[in-house]
Amino acid sequence: MITVNENYSKLQASYLFSEISKRIAKFQEENPDKPLIKLGIGDVTEPLPPICIEAMHKAVDEQANRKTFRGYGPEQGYSFLREAIATNDFQARGADIAADEIFVSDGAKCDSGNIQELFSDKISIAVSDPVYPVYVDTNVMAGRTGKCVRGRYKKLVYLDCTEENNFCPALPSEPVDLIYLCFPNNPTGATATREELKVWVDYARENKSIILFDAAYEAFIRDPELPHSIYEIEGARDVAIEFRSFSKVAGFTGTRCAYTVVPKTLMGYTKKGEEVSLHAMWNRRHCTKFNGVSYPIQRAAESVYSEAGKQQVKALIDFYLENARIIRETIGSLGYSMTGGENSPYIWINTGRDSWKFFDRLLKRAQVVTTPGVGFGNCGQGYIRISAFNSRENVEEAMRRIKRVLRR
Ligand code: PLP
Repeated sequence: MITVNENYSKLQASYLFSEISKRIAKFQEENPDKPLIKLGIGDVTEPLPPICIEAMHKAVDEQANRKTFRGYGPEQGYSFLREAIATNDFQARGADIAADEIFVSDGAKCDSGNIQELFSDKISIAVSDPVYPVYVDTNVMAGRTGKCVRGRYKKLVYLDCTEENNFCPALPSEPVDLIYLCFPNNPTGATATREELKVWVDYARENKSIILFDAAYEAFIRDPELPHSIYEIEGARDVAIEFRSFSKVAGFTGTRCAYTVVPKTLMGYTKKGEEVSLHAMWNRRHCTKFNGVSYPIQRAAESVYSEAGKQQVKALIDFYLENARIIRETIGSLGYSMTGGENSPYIWINTGRDSWKFFDRLLKRAQVVTTPGVGFGNCGQGYIRISAFNSRENVEEAMRRIKRVLRR
């Protein structure tokens, strides 16, 4: 008899976005003539930068010619892309990361979900609350979390992110081995300063812990004082893995390209305390289970680092940041407190009431879809997340509608 991985039954049944879809479907069935504006799920709306399209076309033509055709590429990514990443995203910011420490992949979701395979099932894990659900659910599937009771898994350590701590969590009171951090944060839009990250790096060094740093929204940082990478913090090379993605940087959500940085100096330990290279382990895992991102897509990603690419990407992100500014201005004028939306595409709004009730109110009375904060964790109760990923027209119309409904 084939038996199944029963850890799957511990996953929380109603996944946030499926519950939102259900409520939207019901509303649309009852109100077919009322058009909705979706500021919920964080998918981009604007087309790819022209330079990426050009690079892709050129690469497709190469694939049409026997002389330039390429079959399987290196699993870790072509060196032209790994070099461009190391130079532009890290060395240019003073972070000591080499091309061969970069693993190109088809998504930060897969990488941040798969990375836990490298660690034993006995480790203690800290996640922030609210949290990007992938970090939690992949550990549930792997059997590390225990059961979920009132929105929290028994064996996870939750790091509360609240207005009091500016949504940047304090160190845990008990020792933890693996720490998931995400800045700029999804869902809160909060950022972390150098000093705040330094506290975590020092903690990880003292406790022989590993930080999994998700920087998928790094490109939205405009404040020159804020770090873009954890490797800008001294000592982080020895204790951190970083996830990056072209999804939100250059509109690659449907094109798929990302990368993970695993420094060669990063070590895990056997039960006996012997050092093991996590770079070697991830390399082995990557080569065994992954066959590389397609050549035209890697060429498109490389083009992001050209002079024209940098300008086009900046313009794209400026566009979403202007949406975020418009949202902040409207919500602020209505008297709500919020975070995010300045170095991030997400605005996290304190509604002062139940998240789902507020969500329903905006859905039914303004026909605007948001994301209820409580879906990201208990500390999200009372909040909603609004995403700046939309057309200007839709954002402006959504804000007009929200103003009408919420004006007090
Ligand atoms: N990490 C965070 C925090 C995200 O919010 C997302 C997507 O929404 C991802 C990773 C996924 O990125 P990718 O499209 O590269 O899989």
